[in-house]
Amino acid sequence: MKGDTACTLLQPKEYKSGVKPVWCPGCGDFGVLGSITKALSGLRIQPENVAIVSGIGCSSRMPTYLNTYGFHGVHGRALALATGLKVARQDLTVIATGGDGDGFSIGGNHFLHTCRRNPDMTYIVMDNQVYGMTKGQASPTTDPNWVQGKLTPSGTGINPFQPLVIALASGANFIARTSSSDSNGTARVIMEAIRHPGFSMVQVLSPCVTFRPEQREWKHMLIPAPAAMEATSDPALAARRLLTDEGVYTGILYQGDRPAYQPKHEPSIDNIAELDEEFQI
Ligand code: SF4
Ligand code: MG
Repeated sequence: MKGDTACTLLQPKEYKSGVKPVWCPGCGDFGVLGSITKALSGLRIQPENVAIVSGIGCSSRMPTYLNTYGFHGVHGRALALATGLKVARQDLTVIATGGDGDGFSIGGNHFLHTCRRNPDMTYIVMDNQVYGMTKGQASPTTDPNWVQGKLTPSGTGINPFQPLVIALASGANFIARTSSSDSNGTARVIMEAIRHPGFSMVQVLSPCVTFRPEQREWKHMLIPAPAAMEATSDPALAARRLLTDEGVYTGILYQGDRPAYQPKHEPSIDNIAELDEEFQI
């Protein structure tokens, strides 16, 4: 469901489960939780028509805190689970949530092929450039010079993964970057991402205040993309922008028009004789 003005208007807080988040005080993921509830409320999507699917990590706890259907899966497999669910239940609004480690390292292969396949769902990645839940190791999006005690005492020395450029090159149909400190702005982008057909990728820069306290400064560094960079449907133009924007511009940066992946449902066979016949060589 893409939202229905005939449906009951629920307040954002009514999309919360009542389970108290265990995130560290000040974690950016609180803002994203608020943005998701505002977006669902704004679109008037009823909680029973939403499924939130995640993998493993701090931000992957998201399904627990929402009063929707949810699936907290295994590490890096959120997109595979979410794709299967969307194909089977086209009527649901499917949202995958997770972090940069879960999505771009352990789940990196699924990320590429979900962009390519283009199912009609939204992927919200809370990117803090670190593995937070396992106590602060470098992740795929970590800066090469970030020094972490014993594991990377001289930094990783390798260039970070560029999730939005990779998403574009792999076929994602909607690409946006937001800041968790801008809860209303992120909510507006998530609403557009849900509305847009196909695979929508939303990177939310969401500080890990425990292992990357310097990320508190992001709220002063991230700026709305200038009017000249408003969402384009030209992938070549979007690629040039994403490769040169130094990761500071927020907003909807690309909106394509590829048809969403939705295989036709074949009626299932429940007659044993028919099944036997199908498998005969
Ligand atoms: Fe948030 Fe970092 Fe704490 Fe995890 S470790 S809850 S990402 S602040
Ligand atoms: Mg992370």
